[in-house]
Amino acid sequence: MNLPIREHESVRVKIGVFGGTFDPIHNVHLFIAESARLLEGLDRVLFVPTGNPHYRNAARTSAEHRCAMISAAIAENPYFALDESDLDVEASGFTADLLLRLHAKYSNAALTFIIGADSIVSTSWRRFDEVLASLEQFVIAPRAGIETDALQRILAAVPGHLRERVHTLNLPELPESATLIRTLLAQGRSVRYLVPDSVWRYIETHALYTSDSNAPTGERDFVE
Ligand code: ATP
Repeated sequence: MNLPIREHESVRVKIGVFGGTFDPIHNVHLFIAESARLLEGLDRVLFVPTGNPHYRNAARTSAEHRCAMISAAIAENPYFALDESDLDVEASGFTADLLLRLHAKYSNAALTFIIGADSIVSTSWRRFDEVLASLEQFVIAPRAGIETDALQRILAAVPGHLRERVHTLNLPELPESATLIRTLLAQGRSVRYLVPDSVWRYIETHALYTSDSNAPTGERDFVE
């Protein structure tokens, strides 16, 4: 049972915001969220699925399925919660706007944004200064294949007074991805133990990601 986050709490809480497509949520997402919580001393981590990703591939499954899988995956961790703010029909899908909504919803919270290094390097951010200015911390999980130099070049462009809010989490690079999960499933292979058991069962029950139509164009067969 997740601990309730009372909106407008009187005590200042430290909330981690972990946005993504979560198509589907996998074990490394959970590992990053839990590690960020412990390393940054966060009271809660919100999983915030996006409905309109400007920076990344569109989702292959409905928001309902993705939310159901997130709920199943986080059910055992009382510090985790699902927040559907970015699925609202009025949500722009831009992080700067999402953070405004979250600040209004959790008015006395200090927000820390959690993100994988690939999401910094492979996307062109709009209003990045505004994003950083509204956060207590912006923490980056290292990701296999992302050069430190590429990350440093982007961070070097951050104005000095905001730079101290950004840092990389001391975590190993773990190669799992939702792309890998979808690719294996499209090939009729099992993803058990790459995702929580509850998510694996949900995927099986609903026959998700089984057809080619689930796989993004250009995804190749997984080759051992
Ligand atoms: P896809 O393969 O479809 O791009 P993904 O596995 O990257 O999906 P997302 O839902 O897009 O999953 O990711 C949510 C957040 O988690 C993003 O910030 C992403 O960079 C990060 N993330 C996902 N997997 C990893 C990983 N293995 N290492 C570091 N960060 C990761």
